[in-house]
Amino acid sequence: MSSLEIKNLHVSIGAKEIIKGLTLTIGAGEVHALMGPNGTGKSTLSKAIAGHPDYTVTQGDVLLDGKSILKMEPDERARAGIFLAFQYPSEIPGVSIANFIRSAVQAKLGEGEELDASGYYKRLYEKMDLLKIDRKFTSRAVNDGFSGGEKKRCEILQMAMLAPKFALMDETDSGLDIDALRIVSEGVNQLRGPGLGILLITHYQRLLDYIVPDKVHVMWDGRIVREGDKSLALELEAKGYDWVKKEFATA
Ligand code: ADP
Ligand code: MG
Repeated sequence: MSSLEIKNLHVSIGAKEIIKGLTLTIGAGEVHALMGPNGTGKSTLSKAIAGHPDYTVTQGDVLLDGKSILKMEPDERARAGIFLAFQYPSEIPGVSIANFIRSAVQAKLGEGEELDASGYYKRLYEKMDLLKIDRKFTSRAVNDGFSGGEKKRCEILQMAMLAPKFALMDETDSGLDIDALRIVSEGVNQLRGPGLGILLITHYQRLLDYIVPDKVHVMWDGRIVREGDKSLALELEAKGYDWVKKEFATA
């Protein structure tokens, strides 16, 4: 069984400590929601796990299936099964989605392994059918002039094709209207299963109406201050984050 264990993690950007001792374990196939006010370190956590070079881990560990990934380069972490979906995906004009994902899938293969083109397209179309994505979509340039919903759809297709063990989805709901939110949620729910664990980072409770998490963690000032099941998200929606801040200050 796969697991992603974050143990007493401390992360700094330059001289500033952003993550201040965070512990969280995601089991195989579990969906965990990470919520919290803006500026609390949610994106920093996901980038540090993915291996972004600007983020320095000063203490603690991140274990994938019991093995530390902290010394691995970002591409090795991806090959080991970590996928990061960005809050603000980049546009890559001139590169089609089909070719972009193909390079990513090729890069994930071991040395000397060649991607079989017909097999690749077969799988791509299977995943697109599963996610109800139009075939025309793959010939468009990556994120070039895409709506918020289309960018997220492109990311979910990448995720489906790369088949990670754990996906870190940073504010997948930001900038989405209700219809797009539903499309993205349906995609995530389609991919959800024993082989894919998800850390779903979200500021709002709304996404969790569509993707029901196994566990909810509330982050504040670089730490997890509350944990619970999906009812915690509802409580937060009703009371706002001030309540967490106050409770944490007196704890
Ligand atoms: P969240 O995703 O919860 O809104 P972030 O992880 O984006 O929070 O930011 C946490 C803190 O780290 C904020 O105070 C932010 O200003 C700071 N921060 C994030 N990225 C950088 C960076 N590249 N350089 C300097 N400070 C940063
Ligand atoms: Mg963020």
